[in-house]
Amino acid sequence: MPGISIFMYHQVGRFPPMKAHRAGYCDVDKFRAQMRALKWLGVKVLSMTDALAALQGRAPMPERAAVLTFDDGCENFYEHAVPVLQDFGYPAISYAVAGAAGSGGTWLAGHGRGTPPLMSYARLREIAGLGIEVGSHAFSHIRLAEQPAEVQRAEMRDSRQRLQQELGREVPHVCYPYGSHNLDTLRAAAEAGYSSGVTCQRGAATPGFDPLALPRKAISYGDNTLGFLWKLYLKDTPKGEALARPGHAMATA
Ligand SMILES: [Zn+2]
Repeated sequence: MPGISIFMYHQVGRFPPMKAHRAGYCDVDKFRAQMRALKWLGVKVLSMTDALAALQGRAPMPERAAVLTFDDGCENFYEHAVPVLQDFGYPAISYAVAGAAGSGGTWLAGHGRGTPPLMSYARLREIAGLGIEVGSHAFSHIRLAEQPAEVQRAEMRDSRQRLQQELGREVPHVCYPYGSHNLDTLRAAAEAGYSSGVTCQRGAATPGFDPLALPRKAISYGDNTLGFLWKLYLKDTPKGEALARPGHAMATA
């Protein structure tokens, strides 16, 4: 199990039955079982900050390590995932859309499931106080790679500024909406001062990746504990080509 499995979740809670492959939802009971599996297996759950330090050689790389990431900043993260995380004492990161905090996740609507409420800035301050990292999910949840460079620069810069201002702490981590990114995105993220960025590229994160384009492993609605373990152990081979800025390491797998 080389590298770090950065797991990607979105909404956690109780949902009506749906297609198993949908990655936007995780049943809270399955989530708890997945967290228990990590504990049984002795997998070290790292904050994104500590994972980045290990990837960059500033801290020892644990033999088995994972990071728990939650996109979009939905209120159901607070309601359902945070109590489970606290039971296990696991760190996590919630990526919030700076310009949409406290409103509805309109991009998540459809499929007859309505618009899930997003955590307000007061709530984001509360979870930050509990030790959960809050990262940027850009300012307005657009597909960055489809935007000109100057729009991307504004999305990266303005979201970081707003979150730092509201939270009163550093926001060094970013997650690109829909995983959409190109070289302009990575340059904009670097310019805005981010230290890490995550994509929807599949695979384990290793020191060979550009820290601003780290791959993740999406957990789908249908993943039982066995499916979760399969992703943890076997899906280590990156799928597709990972982007990297010139002069920055790139996956050689
Ligand atoms: Zn998103």
